[in-house]
Amino acid sequence: MRKKPKVVVVGSGIIGASVAFSCLNLGAEVVVLEQTKLGGAASSSSFGWINASFAETPAYFKLRNAAVHAFRNLKEEIDLNDSVRWRGTLWWEDSGLELKKQFSDLVERGYTAKLLNKDEIKSREPNLKDVPKEAIYTPFEGAAEADRVALAMLNILSNQGGKVIEGCKLEGVNSKKGRLFSVQTDIGEIFCDKLTLATGAAAQNVLLGFDWTLPMKNRQGLIVQTSPLPKLINHVLMTNDVHFKQNADGTLTVGEIFNGELNKNKVALDLATDVLLRTSRKLALSEKLIPTSIKIGTRPVPIDGFPVIGEVEGYKGVYVAVMHSGVTLAPLVGQLLASEMLKTSQSPLLEDFRPNRFTK
Ligand SMILES: Cc1cc2nc3c(=O)[nH]c(=O)nc-3n(C[C@H](O)[C@H](O)[C@H](O)COP(=O)(O)OP(=O)(O)OC[C@H]3O[C@@H](n4cnc5c(N)ncnc54)[C@H](O)[C@@H]3O)c2cc1C
Repeated sequence: MRKKPKVVVVGSGIIGASVAFSCLNLGAEVVVLEQTKLGGAASSSSFGWINASFAETPAYFKLRNAAVHAFRNLKEEIDLNDSVRWRGTLWWEDSGLELKKQFSDLVERGYTAKLLNKDEIKSREPNLKDVPKEAIYTPFEGAAEADRVALAMLNILSNQGGKVIEGCKLEGVNSKKGRLFSVQTDIGEIFCDKLTLATGAAAQNVLLGFDWTLPMKNRQGLIVQTSPLPKLINHVLMTNDVHFKQNADGTLTVGEIFNGELNKNKVALDLATDVLLRTSRKLALSEKLIPTSIKIGTRPVPIDGFPVIGEVEGYKGVYVAVMHSGVTLAPLVGQLLASEMLKTSQSPLLEDFRPNRFTK
C-alpha cells in the first residue's frame, strides 16, 4: 500500500483550516500547527462578507466569483447553518451616479445584481428606518463567522484522524537540495512531504532556513459584536456610513474602516460607540445595541493587494496561501491548493496570484 503524503499546515484560520480540510479529503495525513488560538487571528475579527462585488481586475473577479459558488456548495460537505447565512447584500456605500456605475460594472461582468428602489428596499428590510433612494441587491452573497467555519473544519479533521496542535509555533523550514523534508517548531522537528504557510498577517515574518518572505501592507479594521436581538435585518447591509449583518444567533456584527488604518488618535471604545450609534440610527429598534466585543483586527494584505497562493520557487513542497478577503476565498483556495499539492493539478484561476511574482 502507498504511504499517505504527510502535509503540515501552519495557521488555523479559515485559510489554513480550508487547505487542511481539503488535503484530508484527498487522502493526506494532515497536521495543523497554531501558535496562538485555534480559529485564526484575522478570522476571529473579520466582518465575514462573502462576495465578488469588489475586484480590481478581471482575473480577481473570476477567482472571487468562483469562490462565492464554492462556498455555497460547501454545505454539501459540512453543516454550517450556525455560522454562515446566504441572504444576499444590499449595498449603498455610494449613491447617485457612483452607485449606478458600480451597478453597471457588476452587470457587465455578468454578476447577478439588481438595482432596487426605496419601496423595494423597504419591503426587503422592514426594520430599516433610514432607507436610501436606491441600493444594489446581490442575491448570491452571504456572510460567515469565519473562525467558527475554521473550527468546524478542524473538528472534522481531528475526528477523521488529522492532528490539530494549538500553542505550537513554526520556527523554520528544513530542505535538502531545494526540497522540503521537515519543519522546525518550538516543540521539535516534524517530518513532512508538503507544507502550507497560511500564516495570515504574519506572512512577512522571517523563518529559519527559508530565504523568502512576503512583503505585506496589513491594515486594521474595527469589528463590534452586539448581544443577541430578535430578528431585525435580512441582508448584509453595506450602507453609506456603516456595515452590519445579523448572525444566526441574533447578534449583530458591525464594522467600518474597510480600506484604511485605524486613526491613532481614536480610542477604540469611542469609535465602537460611534459605530453602534450610526447603526442604531438606521434601524427601528425597540432596544439598545449592547456591545459584547470590540476587536481591532489586522487584515492580511500582500503588498500588491492580491492573494498569494502556490508553491514557492526554490522550495519544492513549500506552499503559501495568504490573502485579504480570505473569508470569501477560503473554501475555493483550499480545494485548488490541495489539488495542486496532492494531485499536481494547476488551476488557471490561480495563474495571476502566484508567489513567484515576489521572488528576487
Ligand atoms: C476587520 C476585518 C474585516 C474583514 N472583512 C472581510 C470580509 O468582509 N470579507 C472577507 O472575505 N474577508 C474579510 N477580511 C479578511 C479575512 O478575515 C482574512 O483574509 C482571513 O480571515 C485570513 O485568514 P487566514 O487564515 O489567512 O489568517 P488568520 O485568521 O489570521 O490565521 C492565521 C493564523 O496563523 C497563525 N500563525 C502565524 N504564524 C505562525 C507560526 N509561525 N506558527 C504557528 N502559527 C502561526 C496565527 O496565529 C493565526 O492564527 C476582514 C479582516 C478584518 C481584520
